[in-house]
Amino acid sequence: MKHEIWFAVSLCCLLLVSCGQGKRDTGIFPSQHPVSVKTPPQGIPDRDRYTKYDRDAILKKVTEDKRYGDLIENTRKSVGQLVSMSDEQLRGLIPPANTKRALMVHRKGCPVHGGGVSVYQPFGTTVDLSLPLQVRCPIGGEVYPSRDFPDDGQGWLDDRPDSPTKGEKYYFVGWFNHWFLQSLPARIKMLGQLWFLTGDEKYSRTAQVLLRRFMEVYPDIDSNDLTYDGTDRGVYIKTTCTPWEGPALMNLTDGFELLLPTVDDQFIRDYRDLTSTKYEVRF
Ligand SMILES: [Zn+2]
Repeated sequence: MKHEIWFAVSLCCLLLVSCGQGKRDTGIFPSQHPVSVKTPPQGIPDRDRYTKYDRDAILKKVTEDKRYGDLIENTRKSVGQLVSMSDEQLRGLIPPANTKRALMVHRKGCPVHGGGVSVYQPFGTTVDLSLPLQVRCPIGGEVYPSRDFPDDGQGWLDDRPDSPTKGEKYYFVGWFNHWFLQSLPARIKMLGQLWFLTGDEKYSRTAQVLLRRFMEVYPDIDSNDLTYDGTDRGVYIKTTCTPWEGPALMNLTDGFELLLPTVDDQFIRDYRDLTSTKYEVRF
């Protein structure tokens, strides 16, 4: 499986290089480098394509080294809110695939208070799970979208007559969507680690619900729905920005491998089909 992901990442690098060739007039472009494409071995059951870990050996190491205690506790806290959510609430964190994904609500910040004087400000890059598909302004404390600032997932169009950003879009839902999806692989991995170390099913349940929902939307996620601040075209692979897509999928698979004993064969086939999908790359 990792071979297939590696293939996808390699393919992206190759396309980046090749597409840079035609635009050498301006800008900075990566130099050419060798790309290796590996084919996974054939005739092996899906389950055996993934890395398996020696749980007894890992538990022994964790028990003997006190430093792991704090690490595990911190990880528990990191996913505590997710674990407390119902299946329906967890699924609600990931909207339909055609929902915009935006790194910034708007380069000016909040539509009322501004604050967008530096990248990602004032909203930052960390979503509040108690406000799914929403964003709270750290300056005024108000939450978007709202009655006056509706956003159906495609952004709120500023139609205020005297607004300096009239005619531009603010992506409230898109901001949450991007940063939650961006964080999802790491969260899945943490849940996998905790299940592996504790055997507590609440961690595997949470991870599987999120993974299932992600697998539903991922095939139809389109790089054209991703934007930096609504004004750029960007160079994006699929879900997230170009340099982040590969590591995100690797994190996701690391987590999936840890959860392998908790999922049935059909789940494994579905996951394999999902992550071996060829990416559509647009420039
Ligand atoms: Zn505000």
